[in-house]
Amino acid sequence: MRIGHGFDVHRFEGNGPILLGGVSLPCLKGVSSHSDGDILLHAVIDSILGAAGMGDIGVYFSDDDARFKGISSRVLLRRIWKKVRRMYKIGNIDVTIIADFPKIRMHTERMKENISLDLSCSVDDINIKSTTTENIGFFKKEMGIACEAVVLLEKL
Ligand SMILES: [Zn+2]
Repeated sequence: MRIGHGFDVHRFEGNGPILLGGVSLPCLKGVSSHSDGDILLHAVIDSILGAAGMGDIGVYFSDDDARFKGISSRVLLRRIWKKVRRMYKIGNIDVTIIADFPKIRMHTERMKENISLDLSCSVDDINIKSTTTENIGFFKKEMGIACEAVVLLEKL
């Protein structure tokens, strides 16, 4: 069994919606990104790569590469999983979104469904929660949104 951790931050920019876990959420602000800006999936990708000892998302999908401009992060997740799934299956994934908005609770089931489809695992293996930041620092100024993910991979 191997554990991996992923962390991602994106700056708010322009207008919403925001994509999280492949779900489009109404939001006053959008995020700046080379891809579709789905920080939740970026954190999950990095946690999987960390657990597999395979580096990080930038190794595979460079921000400078025009081929990845606006690309769906679900496509990126599936491409990474294709490399890892011969060796591992998902034990469980735990995700924390760190932001004062948007509210995500009513959308987490759909996010879990998307991720479970992309990683061929059960929705019961995925947990998604969110926390606000008590209005301090980075988030008080409504500058951005962050996400952490922890994954356990089980050797096949
Ligand atoms: Zn990102």
